Amino acid sequence: MTIRPASETETAETVASRLTLVRDDIVAAAKAAGRDPNSVKLIAVSKTHPAEAVEEAIAAGQKLFGENRVQEAKAKFPQLKAEHPDIALHIIGPLQSNKVKDAVALADAIHSVDREKIARGLAAEIKAQDRHPALLVQVNTGEEPQKAGIAPAELPDFLTLCRDELGLTASGLMCIPPVDEEPALHFALLAKLAARHGLPELSMGMSGDYETAIQFGATYVRVGTAIFGARDYPA
Ligand SMILES: *Cc1c(COP(=O)(O)O)cnc(C)c1O
Repeated sequence: MTIRPASETETAETVASRLTLVRDDIVAAAKAAGRDPNSVKLIAVSKTHPAEAVEEAIAAGQKLFGENRVQEAKAKFPQLKAEHPDIALHIIGPLQSNKVKDAVALADAIHSVDREKIARGLAAEIKAQDRHPALLVQVNTGEEPQKAGIAPAELPDFLTLCRDELGLTASGLMCIPPVDEEPALHFALLAKLAARHGLPELSMGMSGDYETAIQFGATYVRVGTAIFGARDYPA
Protein backbone atom coordinates (compact mmCIF):
# COMPACT_ATOMS: atom_id res chain seq x y z
CA MET A 1 0.00 0.00 0.00
CA THR A 2 1.30 3.44 -0.86
CA ILE A 3 2.35 5.41 2.21
CA ARG A 4 0.30 8.56 2.35
CA PRO A 5 0.48 11.72 4.42
CA ALA A 6 -1.45 11.36 7.67
CA SER A 7 -4.08 13.91 6.68
CA GLU A 8 -4.97 11.98 3.55
CA THR A 9 -5.09 8.64 5.39
CA GLU A 10 -7.41 10.04 8.02
CA THR A 11 -9.91 11.16 5.45
CA ALA A 12 -9.81 7.77 3.71
CA GLU A 13 -11.84 5.85 6.26
CA THR A 14 -14.73 4.52 4.23
CA VAL A 15 -14.71 1.70 1.74
CA ALA A 16 -15.80 4.19 -0.93
CA SER A 17 -12.96 6.62 -0.23
CA ARG A 18 -10.35 3.85 -0.04
CA LEU A 19 -11.65 2.48 -3.33
CA THR A 20 -11.19 5.88 -4.90
CA LEU A 21 -7.58 6.01 -3.71
CA VAL A 22 -6.83 2.52 -5.02
CA ARG A 23 -8.45 3.29 -8.37
CA ASP A 24 -6.42 6.49 -8.65
CA ASP A 25 -3.25 4.56 -7.87
CA ILE A 26 -4.11 1.97 -10.53
CA VAL A 27 -4.66 4.63 -13.18
CA ALA A 28 -1.40 6.35 -12.22
CA ALA A 29 0.59 3.08 -12.22
CA ALA A 30 -0.86 2.05 -15.59
CA LYS A 31 -0.07 5.42 -17.15
CA ALA A 32 3.45 5.38 -15.72
CA ALA A 33 3.93 1.97 -17.36
CA GLY A 34 2.55 3.24 -20.67
CA ARG A 35 -0.50 1.02 -20.33
CA ASP A 36 -4.21 1.63 -20.81
CA PRO A 37 -5.68 1.93 -17.28
CA ASN A 38 -8.69 -0.07 -18.49
CA SER A 39 -6.41 -3.04 -19.08
CA VAL A 40 -6.07 -3.45 -15.29
CA LYS A 41 -9.10 -4.95 -13.54
CA LEU A 42 -9.45 -4.40 -9.80
CA ILE A 43 -10.63 -7.38 -7.74
CA ALA A 44 -11.87 -6.19 -4.34
CA VAL A 45 -10.92 -9.03 -1.99
CA SER A 46 -13.67 -9.18 0.61
CA LYS A 47 -12.59 -12.26 2.59
CA THR A 48 -13.40 -12.03 6.32
CA HIS A 49 -15.45 -8.88 5.71
CA PRO A 50 -19.24 -8.99 5.98
CA ALA A 51 -21.73 -8.62 3.14
CA GLU A 52 -22.37 -5.04 4.34
CA ALA A 53 -18.79 -4.11 3.42
CA VAL A 54 -19.31 -5.64 -0.03
CA GLU A 55 -22.53 -3.62 -0.34
CA GLU A 56 -20.58 -0.45 0.41
CA ALA A 57 -18.15 -1.27 -2.38
CA ILE A 58 -21.00 -2.05 -4.78
CA ALA A 59 -22.59 1.30 -3.94
CA ALA A 60 -19.25 2.88 -4.86
CA GLY A 61 -19.37 1.22 -8.26
CA GLN A 62 -17.21 -1.86 -7.64
CA LYS A 63 -18.43 -4.93 -9.53
CA LEU A 64 -15.61 -7.47 -9.25
CA PHE A 65 -14.97 -9.27 -5.96
CA GLY A 66 -12.59 -11.95 -4.76
CA GLU A 67 -12.88 -14.51 -1.99
CA ASN A 68 -10.25 -17.05 -1.09
CA ARG A 69 -12.50 -19.63 0.58
CA VAL A 70 -15.41 -21.28 -1.21
CA GLN A 71 -17.35 -21.81 2.00
CA GLU A 72 -17.22 -18.14 2.92
CA ALA A 73 -18.09 -17.13 -0.64
CA LYS A 74 -21.06 -19.47 -0.57
CA ALA A 75 -22.32 -17.86 2.61
CA LYS A 76 -22.11 -14.30 1.25
CA PHE A 77 -22.37 -14.15 -2.50
CA PRO A 78 -25.52 -15.97 -3.69
CA GLN A 79 -27.62 -13.31 -1.95
CA LEU A 80 -25.41 -10.44 -3.12
CA LYS A 81 -25.51 -11.74 -6.69
CA ALA A 82 -29.28 -12.11 -6.57
CA GLU A 83 -29.59 -8.47 -5.53
CA HIS A 84 -26.84 -7.20 -7.83
CA PRO A 85 -26.84 -9.38 -10.96
CA ASP A 86 -23.99 -7.44 -12.55
CA ILE A 87 -21.36 -8.24 -9.93
CA ALA A 88 -18.79 -10.98 -10.47
CA LEU A 89 -17.07 -13.28 -8.01
CA HIS A 90 -13.58 -14.68 -8.45
CA ILE A 91 -12.25 -17.49 -6.25
CA ILE A 92 -8.59 -16.72 -5.57
CA GLY A 93 -7.61 -19.19 -2.81
CA PRO A 94 -6.57 -22.85 -2.93
CA LEU A 95 -9.39 -25.26 -3.72
CA GLN A 96 -10.02 -28.52 -1.93
CA SER A 97 -11.48 -31.31 -4.07
CA ASN A 98 -14.73 -31.32 -2.13
CA LYS A 99 -15.24 -27.60 -2.85
CA VAL A 100 -14.82 -27.78 -6.62
CA LYS A 101 -18.53 -28.32 -7.25
CA ASP A 102 -19.53 -25.22 -5.26
CA ALA A 103 -16.72 -23.22 -6.82
CA VAL A 104 -17.93 -23.97 -10.35
CA ALA A 105 -21.51 -23.17 -9.33
CA LEU A 106 -20.58 -19.83 -7.74
CA ALA A 107 -17.55 -18.37 -9.44
CA ASP A 108 -17.10 -16.33 -12.58
CA ALA A 109 -13.39 -17.10 -12.47
CA ILE A 110 -11.06 -19.36 -10.50
CA HIS A 111 -7.48 -18.08 -10.12
CA SER A 112 -6.16 -21.06 -8.18
CA VAL A 113 -6.02 -24.05 -10.50
CA ASP A 114 -2.94 -25.50 -8.86
CA ARG A 115 -2.74 -29.28 -9.34
CA GLU A 116 -3.89 -32.14 -11.52
CA LYS A 117 -6.53 -33.42 -9.12
CA ILE A 118 -8.22 -30.02 -9.04
CA ALA A 119 -8.01 -29.65 -12.82
CA ARG A 120 -9.69 -33.04 -13.25
CA GLY A 121 -12.39 -32.13 -10.74
CA LEU A 122 -13.00 -28.81 -12.49
CA ALA A 123 -13.25 -30.49 -15.90
CA ALA A 124 -15.87 -32.90 -14.57
CA GLU A 125 -17.93 -30.21 -12.83
CA ILE A 126 -17.76 -27.76 -15.73
CA LYS A 127 -19.17 -30.48 -17.95
CA ALA A 128 -21.80 -31.58 -15.42
CA GLN A 129 -23.02 -28.04 -14.67
CA ASP A 130 -22.36 -26.55 -18.11
CA ARG A 131 -20.96 -23.50 -16.30
CA HIS A 132 -17.71 -22.08 -17.57
CA PRO A 133 -15.80 -19.90 -15.12
CA ALA A 134 -12.57 -18.44 -16.46
CA LEU A 135 -9.60 -20.45 -15.23
CA LEU A 136 -6.17 -19.20 -14.22
CA VAL A 137 -3.30 -21.46 -13.24
CA GLN A 138 -1.54 -20.58 -10.02
CA VAL A 139 2.24 -20.72 -10.38
CA ASN A 140 4.47 -21.18 -7.34
CA THR A 141 7.07 -18.73 -8.65
CA GLY A 142 9.09 -18.89 -5.42
CA GLU A 143 8.95 -22.71 -5.39
CA GLU A 144 7.94 -22.55 -1.74
CA PRO A 145 7.10 -26.01 -0.37
CA GLN A 146 4.17 -24.77 1.73
CA LYS A 147 2.62 -22.73 -1.07
CA ALA A 148 0.07 -23.87 -3.62
CA GLY A 149 0.78 -23.69 -7.30
CA ILE A 150 2.50 -25.38 -10.20
CA ALA A 151 6.30 -25.14 -10.24
CA PRO A 152 7.47 -23.04 -13.21
CA ALA A 153 9.29 -26.04 -14.73
CA GLU A 154 6.10 -28.11 -14.63
CA LEU A 155 3.87 -25.48 -16.17
CA PRO A 156 4.20 -26.58 -19.83
CA ASP A 157 3.11 -30.17 -19.03
CA PHE A 158 0.31 -28.97 -16.79
CA LEU A 159 -1.07 -26.62 -19.44
CA THR A 160 -0.89 -29.43 -22.00
CA LEU A 161 -2.79 -31.76 -19.68
CA CYS A 162 -5.46 -29.12 -19.06
CA ARG A 163 -5.90 -28.33 -22.74
CA ASP A 164 -5.42 -31.63 -24.53
CA GLU A 165 -6.65 -34.17 -22.05
CA LEU A 166 -9.21 -32.24 -20.00
CA GLY A 167 -10.45 -29.72 -22.55
CA LEU A 168 -9.86 -26.81 -20.15
CA THR A 169 -8.82 -23.43 -21.50
CA ALA A 170 -6.61 -21.47 -19.12
CA SER A 171 -6.99 -17.74 -19.66
CA GLY A 172 -4.00 -16.75 -17.56
CA LEU A 173 -1.61 -17.22 -14.66
CA MET A 174 -1.66 -16.15 -11.03
CA CYS A 175 1.05 -15.88 -8.39
CA ILE A 176 1.61 -14.86 -4.79
CA PRO A 177 5.28 -13.92 -4.34
CA PRO A 178 7.16 -15.06 -1.21
CA VAL A 179 6.67 -12.51 1.57
CA ASP A 180 10.37 -11.90 2.07
CA GLU A 181 11.41 -11.44 -1.54
CA GLU A 182 11.30 -8.62 -4.04
CA PRO A 183 7.90 -9.15 -5.74
CA ALA A 184 9.08 -7.60 -9.01
CA LEU A 185 11.21 -10.67 -9.78
CA HIS A 186 8.18 -12.91 -9.40
CA PHE A 187 5.91 -10.65 -11.41
CA ALA A 188 8.48 -10.55 -14.20
CA LEU A 189 8.74 -14.35 -14.20
CA LEU A 190 4.96 -14.79 -14.29
CA ALA A 191 4.67 -12.31 -17.16
CA LYS A 192 7.36 -14.16 -19.09
CA LEU A 193 5.64 -17.52 -18.57
CA ALA A 194 2.26 -16.14 -19.64
CA ALA A 195 3.75 -14.60 -22.77
CA ARG A 196 5.54 -17.83 -23.64
CA HIS A 197 2.25 -19.75 -23.47
CA GLY A 198 0.11 -17.08 -25.09
CA LEU A 199 -2.03 -16.54 -21.99
CA PRO A 200 -3.59 -13.06 -21.85
CA GLU A 201 -4.48 -12.68 -18.15
CA LEU A 202 -1.97 -12.01 -15.37
CA SER A 203 -3.37 -12.08 -11.82
CA MET A 204 -0.72 -10.54 -9.58
CA GLY A 205 -0.37 -7.77 -7.03
CA MET A 206 -2.04 -7.29 -3.64
CA SER A 207 -2.40 -4.28 -1.32
CA GLY A 208 1.35 -4.00 -0.75
CA ASP A 209 2.56 -4.38 -4.31
CA TYR A 210 -0.18 -3.83 -6.88
CA GLU A 211 1.54 -0.82 -8.40
CA THR A 212 4.66 -2.89 -9.05
CA ALA A 213 2.51 -5.69 -10.49
CA ILE A 214 0.90 -3.23 -12.92
CA GLN A 215 4.35 -2.14 -14.04
CA PHE A 216 5.03 -5.79 -14.93
CA GLY A 217 1.77 -6.30 -16.80
CA ALA A 218 -0.88 -7.34 -14.27
CA THR A 219 -4.35 -7.49 -15.82
CA TYR A 220 -5.97 -8.41 -12.48
CA VAL A 221 -4.85 -6.97 -9.15
CA ARG A 222 -6.30 -8.56 -6.01
CA VAL A 223 -6.66 -5.90 -3.33
CA GLY A 224 -8.18 -6.51 0.09
CA THR A 225 -6.73 -4.53 2.97
CA ALA A 226 -6.28 -1.28 1.05
CA ILE A 227 -10.04 -1.28 0.29
CA PHE A 228 -11.73 -2.97 3.25
CA GLY A 229 -9.19 -2.24 5.99
CA ALA A 230 -7.31 -4.71 8.17
CA ARG A 231 -8.78 -8.18 8.62
CA ASP A 232 -9.67 -9.18 12.19
CA TYR A 233 -8.50 -12.74 11.74
CA PRO A 234 -6.29 -14.44 9.19
CA ALA A 235 -8.18 -16.02 6.30
C1 LIG B 1 -6.21 -12.06 0.86
C2 LIG B 1 -5.69 -12.21 -0.52
C3 LIG B 1 -5.40 -11.07 -1.30
C4 LIG B 1 -5.55 -9.64 -0.80
O1 LIG B 1 -4.55 -9.36 0.12
P1 LIG B 1 -4.35 -7.87 0.71
O2 LIG B 1 -2.93 -7.84 1.13
O3 LIG B 1 -5.30 -7.72 1.84
O4 LIG B 1 -4.64 -6.92 -0.38
C5 LIG B 1 -4.95 -11.28 -2.59
N1 LIG B 1 -4.78 -12.52 -3.10
C6 LIG B 1 -5.05 -13.63 -2.38
C7 LIG B 1 -4.87 -14.97 -3.01
C8 LIG B 1 -5.52 -13.52 -1.08
O5 LIG B 1 -5.79 -14.63 -0.37
